[in-house]
This record gives sequence, C-alpha cells and structure tokens, in this order.
Amino acid sequence: MDDNPAQQIWETALGELQVQVSKHNYQTWLEKTTGISYQDKEFVIGVPNSFIAEYLDQNQRSLIKKTLIGIIHHQVNPVFRINNGYHHADEKTSPTSLPASSPFNPRYTLDSFITGDSNRLAYAAAAGVANNPKASYNPLFIYGGVGLGKTHLLHGIGQQALANHLRVCYVSGEQFTNEFITALQENQLKLFHSKYRRIDILLVDDIQFISGKERTEECFFHTFNELYNTNHQIVVTSDHLPKSIPRLTERLRSRFEGGLVTDIQPPDFETRLAILQSKSQQKGEAIAQDTLETIAQQLQQNIRELEGNLNRVIAYARLLQRAATPELATEALRNITNEPTARVISSQWIEAVANSFQLTPADLKGLKRDKNVALARQLAMYLIRQETRSPLVQIGRELGKRNPSTVKYACERIAAEIDINPQLRRRAADIRHQVLSE
Ligand code: ADP
Ligand code: MG
Repeated sequence: MDDNPAQQIWETALGELQVQVSKHNYQTWLEKTTGISYQDKEFVIGVPNSFIAEYLDQNQRSLIKKTLIGIIHHQVNPVFRINNGYHHADEKTSPTSLPASSPFNPRYTLDSFITGDSNRLAYAAAAGVANNPKASYNPLFIYGGVGLGKTHLLHGIGQQALANHLRVCYVSGEQFTNEFITALQENQLKLFHSKYRRIDILLVDDIQFISGKERTEECFFHTFNELYNTNHQIVVTSDHLPKSIPRLTERLRSRFEGGLVTDIQPPDFETRLAILQSKSQQKGEAIAQDTLETIAQQLQQNIRELEGNLNRVIAYARLLQRAATPELATEALRNITNEPTARVISSQWIEAVANSFQLTPADLKGLKRDKNVALARQLAMYLIRQETRSPLVQIGRELGKRNPSTVKYACERIAAEIDINPQLRRRAADIRHQVLSE
C-alpha cells in the first residue's frame, strides 16, 4: 500500500528511535512524523507543526541523522517540514468516505488487526463495542505496553462505529488536557463540555496522561459520568492497569474497574508471523515465508519494532537490488540484533553524567559512596532506564555489578527527587540534551 521508499525508511528509523529515546519523548515529538522524500542526500521528514519541527531540529537532529545513516548506509541530511495529517501515500488509497478531518489512520482498522492469544480478548471486546455499543461492557479499558496495538484497536473501533452511523469522539489524554486548559483560560468551558455531549462513543487514548492533573481529571470524571449515566459507551486505553496508574484518583480508578478491563500482551511467534504476512501484503511486497520467519524469530519488544524490521529488510533489498531471502534478512537485521547497541548507548549516558558531576565513569562504576558520587550513580541509573529501557539487571551490571534492586531503588528515588528538586531536574535535562544531540 505504501510504496514511498522514504516512508518505509522512516518507519524503520522510528522503530529504532523508539527504543533509543524515552517513551514520553517519542510520543511527544516523533510519533506523528512521516517520511516524505529522500533525494540528493536530503531526507525530508513531515511533522505536524512548527513547534515540533523546531524541537527536533534543535535537539534530535544528530540522533535522527545517525539512525538514518545506520539504515541507508549513506550520508544524509534530515530536514523537517510541516505536514498535517497522516501518511500521504495512504491518503490516496484510503476510502473516500472518511471526512477530511477524520482523526483516524485509515490503516488502523479492525480488519487489519491480527489476533492471537496475546490480544484476542481485547479485539473481541473492541469489535463488540463498535458494533453494539449499548449492549456491551462499559467502560471498556484496554491496557498494554508501548507498540502493542492499543491505538490501532481504538482507531479500529472508531472507524467501525462511524461506518455503523454512530457519533464518535476520539481524543488522546494529552489532547483532552490541552483542550481543557485552553477552554479554562478562554472561559469556554461550556463549549468544551458540549463537545462531549451529543455523542454515542467516547474513545480516549492514553488516559494515563491526565493522572495527577487534578482539574483535568475532575473535568474528565464529570464528562465520564454524564456519558455513563446516559448509557453511552466509553473506551479508554492506557499503558497500565487502572490500579497501577500512578496518581489516578480513587473514584476514577473504581469507575474504570467497574467495566471490562482487558490487556494486550506481546505477540507470540505465530502472531508475529501473521502480522508480518499481513503487513507485507498491505505494502504489496511478496516476501517468501522463510524470510518472514527469519524476521519473526528476532527478539522484538513490540509490534512497531517488528514492522520496523520488516521495513528495514525491504529497504535493504531495494537498495542492494537483491531478493529478500532469509540470508539478506539476517544481514539487514544484524546491526540491530548483534551489535551491543544498548551497551554503547549506556556508556554515553554514564560518561555524560560523570562529566556533569566532574567525576569519571570509573567513579560511577566503583565503590566510592560519598554523597556526590552516590547521587551521580543513581542519576545515571535513572537516565539509562528512562532513555534505553534496558533491564535493571543490565544497568546494574554496567554500573559496577550492582543489584537490580539497587537500580530499582535508585530509579524510584531520582524520579521522586526530580519532581521536587528543580536543580536536579535541570541537570537531568542538560545531560539528556547533551547525549541526545551528540
Ligand atoms: P500502542 O498504541 O499500543 O503503543 P499502536 O497501536 O500504535 O501501539 O501499534 C504500533 C504499530 O503496530 C502500528 O503500526 C499498528 O498498526 C501495529 N499493530 C499493533 N498490533 C497489531 C495487530 N494485532 N495487527 C496488526 N498490526 C498491529
Ligand atoms: Mg498508542
């Protein structure tokens, strides 16, 4: 479906960037970007607004550049261009029935959602809600790790419900928060509330975003109740179970738990293979079964990464003008699987933290326990965990063979401290800036 090579390369890059930057960073700055073109060493990346363009240009340029070079194996210069809406290439082929302002990605339908043991219940519940909202579970709460299909499923519900002539409202937790704050500032709360009235289904993606934001949560609680009490369907997604969302108020938590709570787990081998088959068909690429099996065998954290690996193999085969055989797939994926990238990246963080405290990496890995060294060590653990999502065991190993429980404690302590200590927060931001723009 999507034969724009720039978009394919960019999807591969996104798969890699997603594991290199923090989740929040990814969602805020990278998630809604597209690959527009690649010509004369210029790689044009479409971004939703000038704010994001500027941020990426100033802060993540070199990381993006490095990632692109790793994929294309050529010098390339990333350029950010404002471009509203979803992937260009899709829009030409998407059903014209969707209004131009549709918030839904035409690729994220219930039909294109592949099911397996890991997500079957969530899918069944989603389909039930889209086709028969009032008779179903209310609210429907879908949770799971990043890149496992929550947004896809929510868009699928939305598009199916629209096809069933239902009035649908889709919003992310972040959007809800921003709209609420704007309405508050501009004295437009009435208008804001009315938007959420005359609808049949409310879909809220990444609800965890509103937790801890007292007034936004309260406003959401009222919206929720109004719809709930008039028997209207609500579906929310989150990265955690209701009870594990930090700082979510008790009353909202118990509302969520009162409906159907269902999870999405990482896919098993069979499901990964089925997803690869479906995605390669969508792209109009006939790839041999044994090649897809080779890709499915790689260790992948999530489905976005799985797709990224598929794109990488396709891009590699095109660039080298060779057939996509299992050998070529192994070659194309070698860099990401064999190279201890995570280790290289952790050492960058350790070095940057040490510099910031005028210490050496050896100090952080060593036995010294004075206050300054201990704080630097904990901050390094925290940043590596946040930014690379490496397992606790691995982080402990890299910082002087320390226990995973020590790492866990350090991460929790720094997370709490950063909230109340602006100096530490600034220091962490500086280190981040330095490493990510290296
Ligand atoms: P999340 O919102 O959970 O972080 P997304 O919904 O954005 O994840 O999914 C990441 C990518 O994986 C998307 O391209 C999506 O289409 C794809 N994907 C996830 N689950 C499935 C599935 N079961 N079948 C097909 N594609 C999937
Ligand atoms: Mg999502």
